[in-house]
Amino acid sequence: MDEADLANEKAEQFAADALRQIRQRAEQPPSTGICRSCGETIEPERLAVNPTAHLCRDCAIEEEEARKKAHRLGAG
Ligand SMILES: [Zn+2]
Repeated sequence: MDEADLANEKAEQFAADALRQIRQRAEQPPSTGICRSCGETIEPERLAVNPTAHLCRDCAIEEEEARKKAHRLGAG
C-alpha cells in the first residue's frame, strides 16, 4: 500500500464518519428551545452549537452529573 492509498482510505473514513454524524443528528428532532426539565428558554448560543439540545445549560450540567454519579454506582 502506498501513501496515496492510505490518504485516500483516511479521506473515505472521514467522509463516512461525517455522514454518520449528519444522519444521527437528522434522527433527533430539533429542539423546541424550551428546557424539558425546568421550562426555561434554552440559551441561543447553546442551541447554535447543539440544535437538538432539550435541556438548558444548568439542567444539562445537572443531568451530566447525575449520569456520572449513576454510572459510578453501577446503576447504568
Ligand atoms: Zn433547565
